[in-house]
Amino acid sequence: MSVTKKVRTVRKRTAAPTDSDPDTDELVLSSDPLHPANLIPELCKLFYSLGWVTGTGGGISIRNGKDKSLQALTCFLIIRSYEFGRNRDNVYIAPSGVQKERISPRDLFVLTLSTRCNLRSPPSLKPSACTPLFFNAYTMRQAGACVHTHSQNAVMVTLLYGDQFKITHQEMIKGIKKGSTNENMMFDEMLVVPIVENTLFEEELTSRMAKAIEDYPETNAVLVRRHGVYVWGKTWEKAKAMTECYDYLFEIAVKMKSIGLDPAAKPTISPSPTIPTHNLERMQTIARLDDRDIKISEAVYELYARSVEFMIDEL
Ligand SMILES: [Zn+2]
Repeated sequence: MSVTKKVRTVRKRTAAPTDSDPDTDELVLSSDPLHPANLIPELCKLFYSLGWVTGTGGGISIRNGKDKSLQALTCFLIIRSYEFGRNRDNVYIAPSGVQKERISPRDLFVLTLSTRCNLRSPPSLKPSACTPLFFNAYTMRQAGACVHTHSQNAVMVTLLYGDQFKITHQEMIKGIKKGSTNENMMFDEMLVVPIVENTLFEEELTSRMAKAIEDYPETNAVLVRRHGVYVWGKTWEKAKAMTECYDYLFEIAVKMKSIGLDPAAKPTISPSPTIPTHNLERMQTIARLDDRDIKISEAVYELYARSVEFMIDEL
């Protein structure tokens, strides 16, 4: 098949491609381990093991875009390229309602970024209901990838906070980028993540997520009450790393709250002397310590409490 004829075929079949269509298979079959079609199954497996996409919920999307300057230089060649479909600014999305740890590259949906036209749509699978939410991150923040988890840590913080989650003075905050400048946050800055209310159907969250993105220009994540979180980044690596940081911060905030500490409070002394003694038992339970560790922990806590008393006396 000539190059021109092949390009025409891809165009013609974008409306109703089939699983076995060799042209659309080209979009998802690559020997490059960093190709989105190979990365998405690998990351879904990892996220499944972390409890982020269990029960077929959650998902990930990666964009296969080229650098804009490169796009301009190679535009002419791309149009005539044998790899027409591969070189476009495409969006790869895992299907809906499938076991995320068993996805293969052929299960993936592929859409164009600019027109949202389906380049590949496996007929036996449903497109992800997260699709318009992923596009929020692509079109409003020029993201390169977006992760959606149903992590229990994310869900728990939405039960403990109102319309925004706040935390400060945590090392992992440094792994979060500022939405406006793409610079990393500092340890002592206040991380704020908007929380939107859940809807009966995932796609109905699209406008709420868009409003949160507009209202919180610094955020790279939106929490959904009793549901999970959406996190995006300029690349899949940054989206993955930030999702890990956010999840860590959600988890530690829940633990801090459960022992009476405010994750958003600026510490006055390190370590904080404000841990109520009667909460020691709860701390031990949360930390899942065995008997031996509990004894050690009690001894350390006793020592620490005396140090604090001494320090207060000295003031
Ligand atoms: Zn969801």
